[in-house]
Amino acid sequence: MADFPYRYKIEIDKPPRPRPPKQTAVVEQIGCTGCEACIAFCPVDCIEIVPGPVYADMHKLVEIDLERCIGCQLCARYCPWETIDMWAYDEGVAAAPEKTVRSLIYDYELDQMHPDAEADVESAA
Ligand code: SF4
Ligand code: SF4
Repeated sequence: MADFPYRYKIEIDKPPRPRPPKQTAVVEQIGCTGCEACIAFCPVDCIEIVPGPVYADMHKLVEIDLERCIGCQLCARYCPWETIDMWAYDEGVAAAPEKTVRSLIYDYELDQMHPDAEADVESAA
């Protein structure tokens, strides 16, 4: 079972899951409109809103707390933009950085992340 290779995770004051699931959800943030529909369906409230890629308060995105997702698939089924995929747990943990443009929860290594994330950081510098 995957450990979490990320450098940092913010503390989220929500209950932990009892055990890792067989699958986990990963948001392809490049296709996320920030509609928040997935948040309404998540039974464990593990989908978090993160700042937008251009302006922090405009066109926000979501990301999934991989350590709390129970793999129920509801978010993937109901995302109107089909931008959440279900992954085998270990593979999802490994793939998450390259699907991520903005993260609040995890501190991913920049060279693991989606190219747009790197451009975003460079343009903000
Ligand atoms: S439902 Fe899909 S498009 Fe809407 S916020 Fe969730 S991941 Fe983004
Ligand atoms: S798969 Fe289920 S538990 Fe995981 S983020 Fe989606 S709705 Fe939440």
